[in-house]
Amino acid sequence: MSEARAGLRSLAHCPWRGCRPTLVNSAKQPKSMAMFHRRDFLTASAASLAAPAVATSALARPALGRGLADVAVVGAGVFGAFAALALRENGHRVVSLDQYGPVSPRASSSGETRSIRSGYGDQAFYSAWSARALTKWRAREAEFGRKLLYPSARIELTDRWTDGMLAQRKIFDGLKLPYAIAGRDELRHRFPQMAFDDVEFAFVETAASSVLVKAREAVLATIEAFEKKGGQSRFARATPGEAQGRRLLSLKLDGGDTLSAGSFVFAVGPWAGQLFPAIAHPRISVYRSEYLYYGTPAGDPRFSWPHQPLWHDHIRGGWGFGSIERGLKYSVAPGPRVDIDPDTADRMPRDALIKASRAYIAARFPALAGAPILESRVCQVDDARTTNFLVDRHPDFDNVFLAFAGGGHGFKHGPMVGDYVADLVGGRPLEPDAAQLFQLGAHPSMAV
Ligand SMILES: Cc1cc2nc3c(=O)[nH]c(=O)nc-3n(C[C@H](O)[C@H](O)[C@H](O)COP(=O)(O)OP(=O)(O)OC[C@H]3O[C@@H](n4cnc5c(N)ncnc54)[C@H](O)[C@@H]3O)c2cc1C
Repeated sequence: MSEARAGLRSLAHCPWRGCRPTLVNSAKQPKSMAMFHRRDFLTASAASLAAPAVATSALARPALGRGLADVAVVGAGVFGAFAALALRENGHRVVSLDQYGPVSPRASSSGETRSIRSGYGDQAFYSAWSARALTKWRAREAEFGRKLLYPSARIELTDRWTDGMLAQRKIFDGLKLPYAIAGRDELRHRFPQMAFDDVEFAFVETAASSVLVKAREAVLATIEAFEKKGGQSRFARATPGEAQGRRLLSLKLDGGDTLSAGSFVFAVGPWAGQLFPAIAHPRISVYRSEYLYYGTPAGDPRFSWPHQPLWHDHIRGGWGFGSIERGLKYSVAPGPRVDIDPDTADRMPRDALIKASRAYIAARFPALAGAPILESRVCQVDDARTTNFLVDRHPDFDNVFLAFAGGGHGFKHGPMVGDYVADLVGGRPLEPDAAQLFQLGAHPSMAV
């Protein structure tokens, strides 16, 4: 059991014991507030970590009381974990809470692998954000000292140029990202383990921008780094508690405890509808997504990283990754969306999808026809109508911040979202194009 799962961590290591807590984050916060900033934090020595990270003389707001957190981050998926780490690195005293512990099998971030890619069709913003996220991922991998990233080509199989692919090509040119257009013969030559009879060509994203990330492990490493830097983790389910005017004062924890803090971040992924129904329900749908791991032949590396590229199939549908540890991963096109309750759903794949998935594998990977299914995952996507993330201040509370709607593509952006949340909470200027997409006002109701 990780320390994060074991409940409240010992305060003996808490670098802020005895220092006055502060309210952070209001937009009205004086700009002069000399917060201990990330750059300083990253260069801080172990010795300095033992000292209060937030100098009491720098506190510009009245204390709530001794030992209280500046920021409580509810949810330790990829958004919450990186938000907690970034906030901590910016000098805030941070408590991270998760009802099932970080990246439990119910969390959307819990899979073994996720892709980082810049191929986003015509969504230039996310192509650029992904490229920047990858730079941050590489730095974090080095900092965490464990292998999390597996650079890997990604092929988008198609039988014609679509508007999205034409736009994507322009975006790659603009961002100076390498790519290639490979015809059927070249694909057969490079990836003989796949059948390409129905494929005209593929947009090939190179390993410069396409990378597999070990998802669950990456989030756990992020939480570990957060704790090493003085953050606290709690295993608890939290709902908004007492409020005074436009300020939330505390969280209610299951079991009757309360937790006070200066600010609150709710990075609760598919649970947003439970906590904030008026905001989430009309804007975000939560639906099943399933994938299977196929056993590859003994001694045959063709279906494994680095030989097997990530692929996205615009012809037959679905997407998949080469095996890292568990087999060739394939997520079949699921058909109409099926709602899922993230707490109560059995995580068993549907028979119809297993059948469709097997048929696909036999057609696209003839040598894997009849291959055994080794494992399955049933996950959920919390998707806004726009497919943009929702990251904004709560409309009714000045000190409550929302970060969810990662959809089917949020994982790779975890480090970017974490920094964005820290800027939002810290009252620093936001990237205008991100703010425009992420703000609540830019998320129309599903009914519209
Ligand atoms: C099948 C599938 C494949 C995907 N593939 C990719 C991919 O290849 N690349 C990519 O970039 N993205 C991908 N995504 C999307 C990505 O995984 C998600 O967008 C991302 O993981 C969402 O992270 P999150 O932190 O918002 O949510 P979560 O990971 O769900 O975290 C939310 C956390 O909040 C906790 N929580 C909720 N309510 C409470 C409460 N009241 N109190 C305490 N804790 C609470 C939960 O327990 C949970 O741990 C995929 C998603 C799925 C489902």
